[in-house]
Amino acid sequence: MSTQIILPRILEIGAGASRKVGEMVRGLDCRRALIVTDKIMLQLGYVARVREDLKALNIDSDVFDDTVPEPTTSSIEAGVELVKNGQYDVIVGLGGGSPIDSAKAISILGKYGGNMRDYKFPRLVTELGLPIIAIPTTAGTGSEATRVTVITDDSNDEKMLCMGIGFMPTIALVDFELTLSVPARTTADTGIDALTHALEAYVSKKANAFSDIQALTAMKLLAPNLRRVFNNGQDRDAREAMMLGSTLAGIAFSNASVALVHGMSRPIGAFYHVPHGLSNAMLLPAVTEYSISAAVSRYADAARAMGLAQLGDSDAVANQRLMTELYAINRELEVPTPAQFGISREHFFKNLITKADQALASGSPANNPRVPTADEIIEIYKQLW
Ligand code: NAD
Repeated sequence: MSTQIILPRILEIGAGASRKVGEMVRGLDCRRALIVTDKIMLQLGYVARVREDLKALNIDSDVFDDTVPEPTTSSIEAGVELVKNGQYDVIVGLGGGSPIDSAKAISILGKYGGNMRDYKFPRLVTELGLPIIAIPTTAGTGSEATRVTVITDDSNDEKMLCMGIGFMPTIALVDFELTLSVPARTTADTGIDALTHALEAYVSKKANAFSDIQALTAMKLLAPNLRRVFNNGQDRDAREAMMLGSTLAGIAFSNASVALVHGMSRPIGAFYHVPHGLSNAMLLPAVTEYSISAAVSRYADAARAMGLAQLGDSDAVANQRLMTELYAINRELEVPTPAQFGISREHFFKNLITKADQALASGSPANNPRVPTADEIIEIYKQLW
């Protein structure tokens, strides 16, 4: 049986990679760029730098900086209109996963029209929108190297998973120096998100020999550096390892899949506006505990890749250490419980069935090594509380 692997055409990785943006736009034979970003990127001076680098090569650019964290259908509308009415031939997505996902959606909707819901999974989006150059500033979602975008429908608070080669950036400029400014809380949330991508890709029913290599290498890079970047954001070596790890984790899950953590996480994010990485972090230990018996040796491999166990340790020992570590990470990186985050208990319990239905409908739980029923998902949500 063969496996199809989809990747960006160019991955430029390392310090200063983002400064190649002008060269890359020229290489695509494009002339007019729309930079899709957020206000923080503007404040940090990252947008000005990209524009300077474009201008130096006579490339015009405009900026759409109204993207929001966890993008919604309404938040991208103005960006879509800009593309419909402008003469852009390339989109630069600059920021964390939210601006990059917004850029992906704007690229497709701007060229082909329709509503985001029309492009929701299980439909596979094979249309080719405007080419995207993704410049991630978190480590992270890996969105710079995934064929996925996640957009929330404002009308019903559903986080819609949209997939297909149409959402794969043409070029990714992976520059860890841009992550030196990420605050500790976001550093923790995005770092655990990346670790979750790698772990879920590795235990996924859709795992394959290619995604396994990416996932194991990602875990090796991410696990020992999570605490380091949380405790010292200026640790360049640790930031570099996290950035590469998160891109590899993105490649891993994009070419395998995510699983139950992501399936259950999206409804929490959509209903209570919990940042994506944080809702994953809340769920990771409990979901792993639920799933571990169905993929004992896979989870043990993951524990070894994370440096928690040696080759000679039994799978049972490795898995015990994995569970201890996942709970320790949440404690030490100060991941709040849903209650500590401020979620209303009444609402959380009132819509357990809706959350479980949305989780199952996303398709991600079906890739989990242990496939849950709706009742089991509800039990895990309750346990989380
Ligand atoms: P984000 O993009 O929402 O950013 C979080 C906050 O950090 C924002 O306020 C942002 O301005 C700030 N920030 C980003 N980079 C910074 C920097 N370098 N310095 C200072 N502040 C910075 O967060 P995220 O976790 O990167 O992205 C989350 C989104 O990505 C969610 O919508 C999630 O669903 C999506 N996602 C997509 C994929 C995919 O494959 N497409 C995978 C996982 C998650």
